[in-house]
Amino acid sequence: MRAMAFSGLVSRFVLPRVGSEPEQLTIVHAGDTLPVSFVRSPRARRVSLRIDAARRRIVLTAPPRMPLEKARSFAEAHAGWIAARLKRLPERRPFIDGAEIPYFGQPHRIRHHPDSRGTVWREGTEIHVAGHAEHLPRRLCDWLVAELRRELVPLVLAKAASVDRRVKRITIRDNRSRWGSCGPDASMTFSWRLVFAPPEVVDYLVAHEVAHLVHLNHSPRFWALARKLTAGPMDPPHDWLRRNADQLLQYGA
Ligand SMILES: [Zn+2]
Repeated sequence: MRAMAFSGLVSRFVLPRVGSEPEQLTIVHAGDTLPVSFVRSPRARRVSLRIDAARRRIVLTAPPRMPLEKARSFAEAHAGWIAARLKRLPERRPFIDGAEIPYFGQPHRIRHHPDSRGTVWREGTEIHVAGHAEHLPRRLCDWLVAELRRELVPLVLAKAASVDRRVKRITIRDNRSRWGSCGPDASMTFSWRLVFAPPEVVDYLVAHEVAHLVHLNHSPRFWALARKLTAGPMDPPHDWLRRNADQLLQYGA
């Protein structure tokens, strides 16, 4: 009984959790002032730097008891790297009238209709958004999340059924550090920004998370199953995602 099997399935959209806000530092390098967000993590063994492409900032992570000055001098020692990475980030692509965004990999133009009432609709290669300009980003985002859910949920269910597993919950969220995840309780999350990616990339990610319903690791058996569950070859979508990750994080930001 398929319907019974999936009756517990909930699909929802979750906004990012507001955690402890990072401390803002600045580092001066070659006459430039570089923004750095400083966070302490109980899981960090040593100090590290990473790029947060969605927020276009550098994150400096230190273990709980490391003195701030020690962490800061680490960042200063790598200031050249920080500056280069920030400069290399793709441009922001806000949701505004006339902007182009990919819809499942196909370029679409945003058309704003300030005087119309109603919602969002797609016509050919245009996405029309009605209502006040200040509501456009939110309205378009909600619509894109719903479009992704429409594609994603049947795909997850079909692949899960093919390995005789149930999915407890599918959550679409504003996930900046990973595209998808699958927990031991069979709950899955996906980033809403996958709506910009080509269908084969969505399929590849779904196959990956569904394979985790069977193997909660990245063992050779896991990879063999993920490969089997992917509709096409697995490497091209994997490479595409790696090449385009920073770009996908700039839409609607
Ligand atoms: Zn995985």
